[in-house]
Amino acid sequence: MSSDNGGAGELLGDRHPDEIAALVGKAAKIGIDFFTGQARDDLVLRYAPERELLERFAEPLPQTPIGDDALLDSLAEVSRWSVAQHDQRYLAFPDVGNSVAGIAAGIVATFLNQNLIAYDRSAPAGSVVEAQLLLWLRELVGFSFFPLNEYAGLRHLGAMWTSGGNMSNHVAMTVALAATWPDVRRRGLRGLPERPAVVLARGVEHFSYLGAAQVLGLGSAGLVWSAANSDYTSDVSAIAALLENPPEGTRPFMVVGVAGNCRTTGIDRLAEIADLCAKHGVWFHVDACHGGSLLFSDQLRGELAGIERADSVSLDPHKGLFITYPSSYLLVRDPEHLAQFSRYPDKLDDPSCLDLGLITPFYGSRGFESLRLWALIKHLGRAGIARLVEQREETFREMRDLIESTGYFQMIGAAGFYRCAFVYCPPEARRLVEALRERPELVPRVRAVVSRYTQRFVQTLYVSGRVVFDLFTMQDLGNALGLGTEAKIEMLGMCIGHPTMDAGAKEDIVKHIAAVGDDLVDPMVNELRALGVDEAQEAWTASVHGPAGW
Ligand SMILES: *Cc1c(COP(=O)(O)O)cnc(C)c1O
Repeated sequence: MSSDNGGAGELLGDRHPDEIAALVGKAAKIGIDFFTGQARDDLVLRYAPERELLERFAEPLPQTPIGDDALLDSLAEVSRWSVAQHDQRYLAFPDVGNSVAGIAAGIVATFLNQNLIAYDRSAPAGSVVEAQLLLWLRELVGFSFFPLNEYAGLRHLGAMWTSGGNMSNHVAMTVALAATWPDVRRRGLRGLPERPAVVLARGVEHFSYLGAAQVLGLGSAGLVWSAANSDYTSDVSAIAALLENPPEGTRPFMVVGVAGNCRTTGIDRLAEIADLCAKHGVWFHVDACHGGSLLFSDQLRGELAGIERADSVSLDPHKGLFITYPSSYLLVRDPEHLAQFSRYPDKLDDPSCLDLGLITPFYGSRGFESLRLWALIKHLGRAGIARLVEQREETFREMRDLIESTGYFQMIGAAGFYRCAFVYCPPEARRLVEALRERPELVPRVRAVVSRYTQRFVQTLYVSGRVVFDLFTMQDLGNALGLGTEAKIEMLGMCIGHPTMDAGAKEDIVKHIAAVGDDLVDPMVNELRALGVDEAQEAWTASVHGPAGW
């Protein structure tokens, strides 16, 4: 059946190369119009509530072909309702995915359609390219590596691609478990004499560890929580105490060090945690999903000192390295621990075996996702990437100062390298918060007001499509608000993904912050005042009437 567009075929092979080029060009144009902002009225996004998009895209199962033009229209429609994470006014996550090399390689990889499960019949060049990339990443972290042409078998590779940091952390936990109890792969968790436990700091944790503990059968009780410091890093002495004295019946087998937490990008004292893990013979996992990009910079990589002593490291190039999704890697310092998952142990030392699927737990067939990061590193080299990462850090510092200077916010916690947290709390409100917090019984309600207005601020801006901040709940570990460190509060996150910020974008951001910020001052102040007044009235009412039986 031919389409109604000049008889072009359904499959690429049915078409003349010029027709393919024309179609790909039109598809690329849709992407480019989205990129430049033309497709989204120059907004970060054209916001629509869920209900509206459900209606817009609801249709019965298509029964007949629609032709290329209608197809392209449908794709353009999807782009019109998408959010531009690479836009300078998008300040929620660093996932810009705008590397030129990455985009070009992504297009090529789509056409190549290699299956990285194996070398023969699936991915000859792909396997070799990915192997080279894995070795480069090992070198960056400070793990052992070798020139690719001295490749001596899968046993020595010690790294794998995954679809995201969540999965990288799942694999890390899987590998650590088997490294600690080699028999677990045969006998399962039931065969273990004690409950395996993962130690991590509450307050800076990523949810992936809870997910992994549940999926892998450790259970949520298999997570042993230590504390976080007021700067949102893991408290090393709390980890030490847990390792010295673990809960009865449990054996900690893995400690998570965080190289850039997902809220403030605070970085743990990795070398100190490495010392502890070495002392207790416990697997040290470093979650560098955010911090990994710093490894390219001689100026910044010192912040991750000690990462080279980790037993495993998670990296997320689709976060801080300008690569589109999905791009994550798990590196294992002693490659042997990953190699033991091979279905064919006899192939591990075969220098002519490059079937990467043998050492990629959880994965069978998978695409050539690595081509994008490989291309970026080739295109810019370490120095080129370092420059972007350093520029981004500078831009972040400027933007944090700019945000603070608007006067609408109270900053929460220390700023990391590209992300910080704060709440909406203009000076008039802050004075009231300071007065009201003197009355402990009011503190929960004051917190609720701060949370509500922070949320309102972020959502109003988001729905306008003009500036996008992140919104999440977090403990105020440094007690910046004086409302306690235990309860979670709604917070704004600002994350800089783009290495530079045009003057126009800055102006735009400040202008829209002010527009929304000004509107919320009075209602917030009134609500806070009402808290105090209500309380006084309640007290007065109580004294007049008294409780029943008084
Ligand atoms: C984002 C993140 C992850 C999970 O990564 P995904 O790529 O979203 O799956 C894990 N750990 C940390 C610290 C993260 O910031």
